[in-house]
Amino acid sequence: MHRLKRWKYLIRTYLPSIKPPHGNLGYDGFLAYARALPDRQKNMLRRMLACLDMNNIIKQDNKLTYALWTRRDREAARIRKQNRQRFTELGLVRPGDGKHIHHLDGNIRNNRRSNLAVVDGVRHKRAHARSNHVANSTCAQFMRRYRAHERKVRRSKLKR
Ligand SMILES: [Zn+2]
Repeated sequence: MHRLKRWKYLIRTYLPSIKPPHGNLGYDGFLAYARALPDRQKNMLRRMLACLDMNNIIKQDNKLTYALWTRRDREAARIRKQNRQRFTELGLVRPGDGKHIHHLDGNIRNNRRSNLAVVDGVRHKRAHARSNHVANSTCAQFMRRYRAHERKVRRSKLKR
């Protein structure tokens, strides 16, 4: 219940264009609401939650993250699985080896062998996060807004 309240508060305060659900839906109801959001709003909400997680303010909820997957995310997951299977058969990766298969040109639909490279999973994740300048600056911007607003809320509570 606690996290539901928090999610609704975050949406109402920081993403007012997404109308948070009314009434007491419960956890599963909230997931259904999240799944039904348009892709653009899913991305907005997911970016905010990822940003708060990166800054250790809230922990990501796996079920909610999954509910916020867009059509593109599902396509990417399907492609990842296919490439994984193909590379496993070729003996280039093994289950649990911590390796990722990277698209050299950044296009996930270009799955020619020459466009795919086996890379270390941790470094791969980090490299993509770093190269994602837009996401990083959006997150920094959001965190400034978040901290300023939460300070204001705390101060007004102290006055009361
Ligand atoms: Zn990659």
